[in-house]
Amino acid sequence: MKKTSLTFWFAASALLWCATPPLSGAAAGKPLEIYWIDSEGGGSTLVITPEGESVLIDAGNPEGRDAARIHKVATGAGLKRIDHLVVTHFHIDHFGGVADLAELMPVGTLYDKGLPDAPPDAGGNPKLWAVTSAPYREAKVEKRVQLVAGDLVPLRQSTHTGAPKLSLRCLGANQRFATPEGVSLPENAFCGTVPPKPADNSDNANSVVLLLQVGEFRFFDGGDLTWNAEERLVCPKNLVGTVDLYQVNHHGLDVSNNPILVKSLAPTVSVMNNGPRKGTSKSAMEALREVKGLQAMYQVHENVAGEGAPNAPKEHIANHGDLAKDCAAHGVKCTVSPDAGTYTISVPSRSHSRTFETTRKQ
Ligand SMILES: [Zn+2]
Repeated sequence: MKKTSLTFWFAASALLWCATPPLSGAAAGKPLEIYWIDSEGGGSTLVITPEGESVLIDAGNPEGRDAARIHKVATGAGLKRIDHLVVTHFHIDHFGGVADLAELMPVGTLYDKGLPDAPPDAGGNPKLWAVTSAPYREAKVEKRVQLVAGDLVPLRQSTHTGAPKLSLRCLGANQRFATPEGVSLPENAFCGTVPPKPADNSDNANSVVLLLQVGEFRFFDGGDLTWNAEERLVCPKNLVGTVDLYQVNHHGLDVSNNPILVKSLAPTVSVMNNGPRKGTSKSAMEALREVKGLQAMYQVHENVAGEGAPNAPKEHIANHGDLAKDCAAHGVKCTVSPDAGTYTISVPSRSHSRTFETTRKQ
């Protein structure tokens, strides 16, 4: 073959390559996206499914700031409404922004573990609770649903041929945990390796625990679940299994992130929705670092609590410095490929992105 015809062949092949859809095993369709929105150490995780449905897990604090931030990210991602809003528990940094958000954009179904008339924390002030919970009780949402362990949040499946199955399951609520059906679970060898802590009588222990799964990709969001409840979720048998992505419980505080839970989940990647001075405890960071197979840790905020304060690498942190007041509210994002075989974590404020392979480790 002469040089000219060889050149022509390459050019023609390139054209053909561009014009022909790739013949790999990748399923057609859109990726699933997860956004960790900065609520200065609150909960605010937005999931957009391949079919374009939205699930917001917690809505940050009241007084407008966090609802505005959530609204900005949601509309920037093309959303006109929040289809499903799940509140993990009744602390102000998780349910406080619900009423504000419902004023900014339509909210479909609001899911929670049952709003109590009495204060959710033992010893709470009934009058104060009546005041703080009133906007939530009156929030303009289309429907309200109480979640119990084992419930599925109904999500539309992708209509694309070969697209992986999608599910969002409530694994636990109010310290009752669901046992997977039709599976014989082995005893968990991590149980008993770490002592329990004194009983937690706050509503953190009652958090709704969620597992989002698309294909083999698994994402765990346990709200602010605390030490002893975390142990009960995986002991004597691990009711969750292993996960790819772990939203660090309770902003990384040391009353949560029991190493028994963290090692049992064995995540490949962790994302912490912390504040400059909230969460990111030494013990939580150590528990993560002890996980075999953990490849990367991400934070919404740099931990500025003094010299030597534990932190993820700089490019894995969205907001740097002590910025609670004038914070640019950068976020962390996960994009799961349409076939769910890989997922990419990006930190746009640091121009960072890294792709990980989905691994079913059990
Ligand atoms: Zn919290």
